Amino acid sequence: MVEPSVAIRLRNLSRSFGDVVAVNGVDLDVLDGEFLTLLGPSGSGKTTVLRMIAGFERPDGGTIELDGVDVTNTPPYARDVNTVFQDYALFPHMSVQKNIEYGLKVKKVPSAERVARATEALESVRLGGYGDRAPSQLSGGQRQRVALARALVNRPKVLLLDEPLGALDLKLREQMQVELKEIQRDVGITFVFVTHDQDEALTMSDRIAVFSEGRIAQLGSPTDVYEHPATPFVAGFVGTSNLLEGEAALAVLGRGGTWSVRPEKVRVLGVDDPVGDGRHAVRGRVREVVYVGMSTRFVVDLAVGGSLMAVQQNSELSADLNGLRGQDVQLAWDSRHEYLVTE
Ligand code: ATP
Repeated sequence: MVEPSVAIRLRNLSRSFGDVVAVNGVDLDVLDGEFLTLLGPSGSGKTTVLRMIAGFERPDGGTIELDGVDVTNTPPYARDVNTVFQDYALFPHMSVQKNIEYGLKVKKVPSAERVARATEALESVRLGGYGDRAPSQLSGGQRQRVALARALVNRPKVLLLDEPLGALDLKLREQMQVELKEIQRDVGITFVFVTHDQDEALTMSDRIAVFSEGRIAQLGSPTDVYEHPATPFVAGFVGTSNLLEGEAALAVLGRGGTWSVRPEKVRVLGVDDPVGDGRHAVRGRVREVVYVGMSTRFVVDLAVGGSLMAVQQNSELSADLNGLRGQDVQLAWDSRHEYLVTE
């Protein structure tokens, strides 16, 4: 198999603002055609990394290569990347078509080619036929897609997206997550996407770089990061932190350390129910029952100390699960689903 080539190579990238170390020695290879997400809490350095790739921010240390060429000291306009921001300022007095053509006009691309490329870009974001509208005649999601088309029309090797869905309401956002991924697959451009929303990252990415305090805490596929968090921070930030630690781990699993078991892997059983082969079980008392439509969440205080969460799909016609509050139960899970986070 041919190894995919590296579109962006970051080595020991660092940047401080006064006393604040925003980015602290980041190494990262983004592969050609990949959808890579920088995920992390506010202030963890994601945007600064993106801005350094774009050339808007100079690193204090380290190097940036695009397609094998060192661009660390190259100005933004000479880099083959485009950026889409959350604040997708379209020109209000220009039609959608003219908005998209604008960048090509500046580059003196001939008129016929401009029209053809803008039309193609509009079609790639599923807005064929919308060229004559004014931005004010579009919904938020459509405007965001025009902003995307405006970047795609330049046919960059790499597209950098800084929380581009941040301004949309949840429904539209979820819809755009699926669409954006489809568009990326169609056009085959490398996407580097910044978000602090873990669901968004899990939905769209080929790989996720989880940021914490200016460093990459973990780099892996959505499944890797979710099922096998490398640190307690990742376990807590991506998904619900559900940890068995120290004495509790020793009592239940026969080993100390910090273990993670995802809530949807945990079943709630009666105290006398059989646990089944290959499963671990622990007794506790239900503290909280939260009905969330598709599923119900249980928070259980364990007899050995600490607490765990269990999430159950509401696939059956459910009895009144609220009645379980205060009851003694067993929590059980397949031992293959427990994962050692730290020794
Ligand atoms: P958010 O999700 O809130 O955008 P982020 O993970 O993208 O956060 P950055 O914007 O990269 O984080 O910021 C990292 C740190 O660097 C923060 O502490 C921030 O306050 C600081 N910082 C970023 N840009 C500047 C600047 N121009 N001047 C001073 N401090 C800055």
